[in-house]
Amino acid sequence: MPYEGRAAVLNEAGRDVELEDITLEDPGPGEVLVKMVASGVCHTDLHVKNMNGMGMAFPILLGHEGAGIIEAVGEGVTNLKPGDPVVIAYRAPCEQCPACLRGDPRRCWVALRPKQRIRRKRDGALLSQVLRCGTFSTHTVVHSKAAIKMPAEMPLDKACLIACGVITGVGAALNTAPIFAGANVAVFGCGGVGISVIQGAKLAHAKRIIAVDLSERKLEWAKNFGATDVVNASQGDPVARVREIADGVGVDFAYEAVGIPKTIEQSIASLAYAGTAVHIGLPEDEQHVNLNFGNMDTGVYWNKATIKVCHCGDALPSNDFPLLAQLYLQGQLKLDEMVTATTTLDKVNEAFHAMEGGDVLRSVILF
Ligand SMILES: [Zn+2]
Ligand SMILES: [Zn+2]
Repeated sequence: MPYEGRAAVLNEAGRDVELEDITLEDPGPGEVLVKMVASGVCHTDLHVKNMNGMGMAFPILLGHEGAGIIEAVGEGVTNLKPGDPVVIAYRAPCEQCPACLRGDPRRCWVALRPKQRIRRKRDGALLSQVLRCGTFSTHTVVHSKAAIKMPAEMPLDKACLIACGVITGVGAALNTAPIFAGANVAVFGCGGVGISVIQGAKLAHAKRIIAVDLSERKLEWAKNFGATDVVNASQGDPVARVREIADGVGVDFAYEAVGIPKTIEQSIASLAYAGTAVHIGLPEDEQHVNLNFGNMDTGVYWNKATIKVCHCGDALPSNDFPLLAQLYLQGQLKLDEMVTATTTLDKVNEAFHAMEGGDVLRSVILF
C-alpha cells in the first residue's frame, strides 16, 4: 500500500525550498516507514541548499534531525513495530566495512541507507534524502537500524535534537576526544553544536569550560548551558585570553564548531602541551588553513598537539541516543532550553533565514 505525504523539497540548484506532495512505497526488507513528529533545522541543511545540493542529485528531500513514530516495518525487521517512538540516526554503522569488522563501529566508513522509495507526486521523480534521512516530511523511509527506539516518556519534540546537533557536540566531548575530569576546555563557536560540547564537557566534569564567540547573545546562552568563562573574540586576541584563563598554559581540549580557517587556527594555538583540538565545523570546499608547526611555544610539533576531526560525535546511535534521552529525563542534559523557536513545514525558508541571522539556537518543525 503506497503512502502519501507532504515534504519540503529542493527542486533545483539556487531555488528556495518548496512544499511538494509526495508518495512513498512500502518499506523494503530491513527498512521502516516513520511518521514524523518533529525535526530540528540544522546548519547542514542550509549548507545543502547554499552549496547546490552538496553533490546530491535533485530533487532533494531535506532534513536529518528528526523524531517520529513507526508506521510500518519491512520484511525481516524485528527490533521495531508500528507505534514505537524513534529518533532517526544519519550514521548507523554498516557492520561490513574494515572498521566495523575489526569491532570499531564508531569509526564506520559508510552508513546504512534505505533504497530510494520517496517520489515527487506530480512527476514521479525520486527524491534524494539528505544524509539518508529526509525528515522535512510528514513521512520518510529509513534503514531500520537507523531508527533508534526512545523511552515512552521521552518527548519527541525534544528527542529530535539528539539526532544531529546534540550527539555531535556531546559525542565530540565524550567519544572523539574524551574529556578527563579536571580538564580545561575551550569551545569555539556557540551555536547548537558548540552548546552541546559545553554540555558534554560539564557531564565529563571539566574544570574550566571557556566559550568563545563573536556574539554576546551566544555567549549568554553558553553560560546558561555550563560555560564557566566566556571570551568575546571581537574584543582582543581570543587565544591569549583563553590561555590566560586556562591556568596560563592553554587548554587540554579545544573544540571548534565553526569551520573557518581563523577559528581552526585559534583553537590549535589555544592548546596546552599535549592537548587535543577537535574540528567539528563544516569547512568550505577546498579550504586550507595555516598551521604553525615549528614555533617553540605554540607550534604543533613542540606543543605535541593532537588534531582530530569529528563527524556526528563518533556516535554509536543504538548505544548513545538512549543514553542521551536518559540523561535528559534525569535532568542532566538540557534540551528544552535549546529550542528557541518552533515552526511548521511550510515555514522552512523563514527558519533558514533566522539561522543565517544568528537569531536562533535551534528551530524545531512540528508536524
Ligand atoms: Zn545536522
Ligand atoms: Zn562500517
